[in-house]
Amino acid sequence: MSKGIYIHIPFCLRKCPYCDFYSVEYNMGTAKKYVNAICSDIMQYKDKNIDVDTIYFGGGTPSVLMAYQIGRIVYTIKKCFNVTEPEITIEANPSSASYEKLCRYRQAGVNRISFGVQSADNSQLGFLGRLHDFDTAAEAVYDASRAGFDNISCDIMLGLKDQTIESLNETIDKITTLPIQHISAYMLKIEDGTPFDNDLVRNSVADEDLLSEMYLNTVERLASSGFEQYEISNFAKDKRYSKHNLKYWQGEEYLGFGAAAHSYFNGIRYCYEKDLYKYIENTKGSKILLESNPDKTEEYIMLSLRLKSGISLDKVSKLGGQALADDIKSKAKLYQDKGLVQIDSDVISLTPQGFLLSNSIIAEFLEKTDEKC
Ligand code: SF4
Repeated sequence: MSKGIYIHIPFCLRKCPYCDFYSVEYNMGTAKKYVNAICSDIMQYKDKNIDVDTIYFGGGTPSVLMAYQIGRIVYTIKKCFNVTEPEITIEANPSSASYEKLCRYRQAGVNRISFGVQSADNSQLGFLGRLHDFDTAAEAVYDASRAGFDNISCDIMLGLKDQTIESLNETIDKITTLPIQHISAYMLKIEDGTPFDNDLVRNSVADEDLLSEMYLNTVERLASSGFEQYEISNFAKDKRYSKHNLKYWQGEEYLGFGAAAHSYFNGIRYCYEKDLYKYIENTKGSKILLESNPDKTEEYIMLSLRLKSGISLDKVSKLGGQALADDIKSKAKLYQDKGLVQIDSDVISLTPQGFLLSNSIIAEFLEKTDEKC
């Protein structure tokens, strides 16, 4: 089966106060060395005859790199792997994506772009410490469309300070009128150790009840604009799902390159240290083994229940035994009565209400798994 490739670009123009992704302030000299390290790391896979059909540049802010640097990484991947009709995605910050740069990404083979728009309300964008306003974000989306992108995604965020259902709906309405095919809608989470990790911020953002209301409202409003929910936080028009991210959720293998990048390859999960300087010095030395023999049954249940398509009891039975499949089915029936789960012959999936409680539902299914081990 074809693999995915993830490239982590750990540079941002400025750190947003809510973000705990691994990134540092952009520096042209360091970025040059980092791109060299990525390319020589990729070169180790030359002649290994590995098929690849998705490439994803995530970050950080990949769009801070020069377009030729992205092109060089894509070229190196194509030289070292068997790349067929790839989906090539780049995450972009609206404030660092000029029309010229977007055209050059297209020339380099990038065919999907994901913008961190977050909100159409400029005061909410200010709260998030973003460098763009909504007009800049809309212009970047139109520029991407003019540059030939017909697979564009926008991120939006729920639960912001002063965000109401009305202002969220304005954001949704403004964003869904842009020429885009995909939306990721995330709930703001206050991460430990970030500048947002204090009571002042915690008390100013949406509480759990409002957040749940916002989530259900978003699912419904996006559906009425033609965006089908296919994962807890992801919505697409005309089935333009993220093929790369589907690999994660379907338990398929992928190779990650760059500091903090994760891989699942040859049945082993590992990651690189969150230290780009170590990565530049010695890519081999900065790898950390996470799991050498992941539990396939547990992973299947955990990952597939994130998807609207859910889990197949037949597959659960093949992976973990008939008793486990029966056990999950009887548990699922109780949740079905509460409107949290759907059962459609062999398939069990979560409803939008169920997605809100996915952690505890999955934990309960897995509790049974552990007992049977
Ligand atoms: S631009 Fe994105 S990755 Fe960079 S700090 Fe902000 S949220 Fe984090």
